Amino acid sequence: MKNTITKLKPVQIKFSKNMFNTLFQCYRPYIIKIILTVVIGFLGRLLLLSNAQLIARFLDQRQNLTSMDLKSLIWQLAILLSVAFVLTILYRTVFSRLSSLAVSRLYDETTYRVSRFPMQFFDTTPVGQISTRFSSDYGNIFRLFGGPLAEFLSLIFDLISILIIIAFAHPIFLISLSISAICFRFILKLNQNELRRKRQELSILRGPSVAHFSETVQGSVSIRQHRKNKLFQHRFEKLDQMFLDCKLSVGSHLMKFSVQLYVISAILFFVHGLICFYLLKNQLIGPGQITVILGFTLLATNTLQMFFEWYSQFDEALIGVDRMDQYLRKPLETDSYLPAHSDFDTAHLKKAKTASQKISSSGIKAEYILSVQNLSFSYPEQIENILTDIQFSLKHGEKLGIIGRTGAGKSTLISALLRLYPIPKGSILIDGQYKTDVEDHRQQFSVITQEQFFFKGSLRDNLDLYHAFDDKNLIRILEQTGLELNLDFQIDEKGQNLSMGEKQLISLARGLLKNADIFIFDEATSNVDPQSEKLIQRALTNVLSEKTQIRIAHRLQTVEDCDQILWLDNGRIKKYGPTKEVLEAFKGSS
Ligand code: ATP
Ligand code: MG
Repeated sequence: MKNTITKLKPVQIKFSKNMFNTLFQCYRPYIIKIILTVVIGFLGRLLLLSNAQLIARFLDQRQNLTSMDLKSLIWQLAILLSVAFVLTILYRTVFSRLSSLAVSRLYDETTYRVSRFPMQFFDTTPVGQISTRFSSDYGNIFRLFGGPLAEFLSLIFDLISILIIIAFAHPIFLISLSISAICFRFILKLNQNELRRKRQELSILRGPSVAHFSETVQGSVSIRQHRKNKLFQHRFEKLDQMFLDCKLSVGSHLMKFSVQLYVISAILFFVHGLICFYLLKNQLIGPGQITVILGFTLLATNTLQMFFEWYSQFDEALIGVDRMDQYLRKPLETDSYLPAHSDFDTAHLKKAKTASQKISSSGIKAEYILSVQNLSFSYPEQIENILTDIQFSLKHGEKLGIIGRTGAGKSTLISALLRLYPIPKGSILIDGQYKTDVEDHRQQFSVITQEQFFFKGSLRDNLDLYHAFDDKNLIRILEQTGLELNLDFQIDEKGQNLSMGEKQLISLARGLLKNADIFIFDEATSNVDPQSEKLIQRALTNVLSEKTQIRIAHRLQTVEDCDQILWLDNGRIKKYGPTKEVLEAFKGSS
């Protein structure tokens, strides 16, 4: 854990150009509507605030007020206010909705791309870390870019309106306002980097505490067994203290920033007071206008304070966008392409440009649905090969059994066949062709294991999340597998209420729904109950009889009816040939 803390990335203070580009891409589909809404919002705020100016002018121009004058004023105010309210409400509702839709595009796209990162990323990054980062960044972005952004822009509209109204009262105030704007900007610059750095630190520090918490929950049984409760608690307290210290430091810095803003505001108010005194004395301005100027100077102070508070909050949301943007630009796994309609411009290749690039390998007969040639494989950043010179071919409908002692590389061979990791040497051809798009390649395979992903929900949803099939089809598939669960059966998280055999049968049903050409079956290492074992064996021989199969076996009877056997020993082919021959040699060796 100590490593996690000390290895925190160096803090990046400037936002990248890419980040703003990504944000623009989020809003692009809605840009016209958003511009219109912003104009409506601005008009609404300007009309709302200009009421005061209307009253002031009215009072300054008339010495004796008649009831008719008052009536006319009230009517004008009522109309102005009604229009202003309608415009403001329209702006807030429409803008919040559009903005939320826009930023949710970023989340969708990032999630999609993360799901296509190289396997190495998932092997080396703890799940807790990824989900914490995602939930906190996305939480900040989604929370702030909806209603609060509308509110933040309203503050800007107010500030511009106040500026116009004060300048309209007398242009001399433009000078004092410009000078104070420069002062405010200076103070912001003075504090911004430090505040941003601290907020980034805070958001990075949140990760290890939450990751540690989820580790503790996941490993609760082992922690108790080994009596490490105290150690885990101590680590959590340490992480928590670091987070708390950082949070307090952000708070005190914000306080310092606020005090500086108030000092400038107080000076501005004092200067405006002096100017008003001079103008009134020389009859250059009426008392109504003075009320407006001083009232709006005070209002501006408050609005500015709120503006900077929101501004620093948006900084945090922008940090979130920046980090999502980094995910968005990370390389995808080898031979992976984005869909042609993918909107966010990054360096990744898109599918349309590569669709016609299928490389046909000469010399390989298309009669083989799968050909593996001189395949050597090592996991990323490992020097030693796990598989060396693997070579075999399968005709349509042929069945290959893979045997070998534990650690021989059987499951690794499946990962390599699915191209889950880059293949350093050799090739895997489908129908004599190298599929340039790894997704097209995987489409040909269905893998049946007990390690599939199950989520809390009905069996129906676990089989067919997007409801692409009707119940009739799903029931037919379930009947083929022999699984005796009904579609409404509720599966617990991670399939905890399913037996090993049931998991395999559901996995088989998923494979049948996918209708892939090649079925890979990785047998459970632990015992499967005899009933399920019979069902699986029956499915392999009956339901999948026409399909090409690769079966990894821990018990030899699973592969006895295969056409060929490949015996793996320490990542190399020990023997490959007809089933009887290889099995006899294997039995003889032990
Ligand atoms: P079993 O019969 O126990 O399932 P297996 O034949 O399927 O064994 P593999 O799981 O392929 O064996 O493992 C082969 C070797 O590759 C082992 O030495 C293992 O430690 C290593 N290995 C497996 N997965 C990874 C991984 N993700 N990263 C690094 N090494 C791995
Ligand atoms: Mg294995």
